[in-house]
Amino acid sequence: MTDYYAELGTTRGATQEEIKKAYRKSALKYHPDKNQGDAEAEKKFKKISEAYEVLSDENKRHIYDQYGAEAVQGASMGGGGGHHGGGFSSMDEALRTFMGAFGGGGGGQESIFDSFFGGGGSSDGSGDHRQGSSKRMNLSVTFEEAMRGVEKEVALNNYASCDTCHGSGAASASSVKTCAKCNGRGQVYQSHGFFNMATVCPYCSGKGKTITDPCKTCKGEGRVKKKKHVTIKVPPGIDSGMQMKMTGHGDAGEGRGPAGDLYVHITVAPHRFFQREGDDLTIELPIAFSEAALGTKKEIPTILDGTVKITIPEGTQSGKILRVRNEGVPNVHGQGRGDMLVKLSVETPVNLSERQKDLLKEFAELETEHNSPKKKTFFDKLKVFFS
Ligand SMILES: [Zn+2]
Ligand SMILES: [Zn+2]
Repeated sequence: MTDYYAELGTTRGATQEEIKKAYRKSALKYHPDKNQGDAEAEKKFKKISEAYEVLSDENKRHIYDQYGAEAVQGASMGGGGGHHGGGFSSMDEALRTFMGAFGGGGGGQESIFDSFFGGGGSSDGSGDHRQGSSKRMNLSVTFEEAMRGVEKEVALNNYASCDTCHGSGAASASSVKTCAKCNGRGQVYQSHGFFNMATVCPYCSGKGKTITDPCKTCKGEGRVKKKKHVTIKVPPGIDSGMQMKMTGHGDAGEGRGPAGDLYVHITVAPHRFFQREGDDLTIELPIAFSEAALGTKKEIPTILDGTVKITIPEGTQSGKILRVRNEGVPNVHGQGRGDMLVKLSVETPVNLSERQKDLLKEFAELETEHNSPKKKTFFDKLKVFFS
């Protein structure tokens, strides 16, 4: 029996902080750099890294507490797909776990954002406890909802453990019989010439048990489709293409297997005025050319805080960007807020009255090359170019 708590030198009631501390202490002691060529130390280091990988993950720890090391080694150590039979297959993996516990951000604890989509329906090979399938769903939110964060209730139609038989699939405890074909091993041996090959028992599909009187509610499956309402908490700052992982909200597992997960794929509707660039918001603000020339003050909308007053300085050129600090997108990881970038576009006046035209003509007569320094520079260069 593997006791991960004893392996780390801690106890069942330990907090995450205590587990991390205990792991660091023993990992440093048995670290391969300090114990070169010591096979015993290397073995111990792998063991404690394995223990930490399970105990530092609340989900895995929970499964381990309930069902022991076997359950986590098979069902979840390898993630969704290709399993290794438990523990670490290489020293590199053990070292990566070690680095994760020390690294600043990113490492160690799981994030709710997870680009990995588990294939689901993975099995540990025994057939007795299979993880439930993971699900994927799309969730659309408005631009404002993505800025403020929102709670959305969704209806899931998942397989859940059958209440009538508590997941056993049998009408009564006495109707569960050890499979006579494989004697409960779940495997049968077939002779192929000189050697025997083990295959999954076809009689019990590897479960090792047969049910003589199946549960009427679930027809012996142990699980039934059930409608369930779940509230999805969408954090402020979420963006299109991000994925939220809701652990345990997939299909119920079979036997002692854990439930699958729900992956929520987010789509954010575009906004009429604001465009998102990372955590910054851009908005285009058209201004009259007289405003650009003389300077002015403008009241403009922000996404979350009503309006804000901005100063457009005298002589502003089209395309100039004014930055309003902290009026952008709230960072989805809670790291402050981005800025609002106001892109000014100067509009050349149209539909002029006779009076306006006269004034502009008069203005043109008074215009000097100092009024348009860019234009002057350009034509000066052009002259050199053609001379
Ligand atoms: Zn049932
Ligand atoms: Zn069998």
